[in-house]
Amino acid sequence: MIRHHPDNNMLLEYSSGSLPWAMSLAVSAHLQLCPQCRQQRESLNDIGGALLSESAPQTIDTDAFSKLMGRIDAAEQQTREEERLAGEMGEPTARPQRPVRHTDPILSDLPKVIRKLISRREPLKWKRVSNALRTSRLTTGQDRYEVAFQRICRGGQVAEHDHRGREVTVVLVGSFSDADGVYRRGDFLVREPGDVHRPIATQDQECLCLSVVEAPVKVTGLLGWLVNPFLSFRPA
Ligand SMILES: [Zn+2]
Repeated sequence: MIRHHPDNNMLLEYSSGSLPWAMSLAVSAHLQLCPQCRQQRESLNDIGGALLSESAPQTIDTDAFSKLMGRIDAAEQQTREEERLAGEMGEPTARPQRPVRHTDPILSDLPKVIRKLISRREPLKWKRVSNALRTSRLTTGQDRYEVAFQRICRGGQVAEHDHRGREVTVVLVGSFSDADGVYRRGDFLVREPGDVHRPIATQDQECLCLSVVEAPVKVTGLLGWLVNPFLSFRPA
């Protein structure tokens, strides 16, 4: 059962299209896994629509999802164009043009928006950060947020770290815990600057999360410098 959800403000911003699109990816992934928030969003849209129709002849954007899918296409095109230009300058280009099937079992049951995001990105490049953790950065064509998969092995423990910027995490496969609780598939976590935590995956299966990070985090634990995946913040 999903216990952690985006708040109403975030749902409203998502619906109105004013949420930064990297964050919209996380909200959309959660909505696809969470009937409760889908319903909540409908109610909020109804209220918003009623308020707007009384004040001005304006309609609230109720199709944030289609917009998001279009935005993913645009980011893809931008990336291809950059690669084409790089190719003309003699740099290698290897990105496939058609949708590809990911054979990695952990990617077999992801929310539609995430499947779309990785549909032309094979193979994902996994960077081994520690024995417990691998990460794969996802290209989104923007540099304000770093969007990545975080993959923790069974029972794996990630170095303690805190956050200098807001981080949103959506659990996509498996589960993990920290000092505050256990987080399962669909759970949506917001970490504010200053929050310190140390995620540990549960023993039964690997854990895959989507993370959207606003700014670099710094490591607080011993050896953290070795194992913190979030240190290498660079524009996507
Ligand atoms: Zn929810």
